[in-house]
Amino acid sequence: MLIDIKSPFDIINHNRYTFYPMHKGDISKVLKIIEKELPKWDSPVVELKGLKFENPFQVLICALISTRTRDETTKRVCKRLLDKIKSPWDVIKMDPKELEQLIYPSGFYKSKSLFLKDLSGQLIEQFNGEVPRKLEDLLKLKGVGPKVANLVLSEGFNIDAIAVDTHVHRVCNRWGLVKTKSPEETERDLKAVLPKRFWRKFNFLLVAFGQSICKPRSPKCKLCPVIEFCENSPQSTNLKVPLPKMS
Ligand code: SF4
Repeated sequence: MLIDIKSPFDIINHNRYTFYPMHKGDISKVLKIIEKELPKWDSPVVELKGLKFENPFQVLICALISTRTRDETTKRVCKRLLDKIKSPWDVIKMDPKELEQLIYPSGFYKSKSLFLKDLSGQLIEQFNGEVPRKLEDLLKLKGVGPKVANLVLSEGFNIDAIAVDTHVHRVCNRWGLVKTKSPEETERDLKAVLPKRFWRKFNFLLVAFGQSICKPRSPKCKLCPVIEFCENSPQSTNLKVPLPKMS
């Protein structure tokens, strides 16, 4: 929603309550501010940063465990899981009941345990037990969507990728950085505006920010350290040009 301003009339004709969206050039400043403020917030996602993965398969299974599960629970479950499971063969060999217990109390743990067995079988049959490092191949895996696939690329292979979940999607739209209807559209548009050097850390920073400040309901705009860049703040000051008074 960038406004093409060529004359004062363009400004006057523009709805005075519509604010300028975040600029591509603001991103670096905004991310720096979030990075600096982050230690003050008690964001559950920070917990997950402590997990140590030995290979992309471990990243993949933990990303799947994390769906519909609180970050605190994910960390507890994944710590246990990472000690016992290093490869798809470990999953295949494991007794189904033991696997269920291992991933309890993550959400839908019974179906997830069956699903991990299926996924491990598919990896062994189609990819010699290796996690593929191409997005299109990752998306062929059962139950793997764009968010998980991008997390695996980014965390498992250190490849520049943007994992877009509901936090990233919501925050980017509130900022005015993108105007999209789904996380998939957000990923596509972010790739066009976000310099590659930010891709890998973008998910972590925005999830922490979305969990602590820019919450789904009742965002804490009064405490927001990037309010001046936000198109949807209640009193956005992100005006590159002062708007005229209207009667
Ligand atoms: S000002 Fe409010 S809506 Fe905008 S980013 Fe900050 S918390 Fe979110």
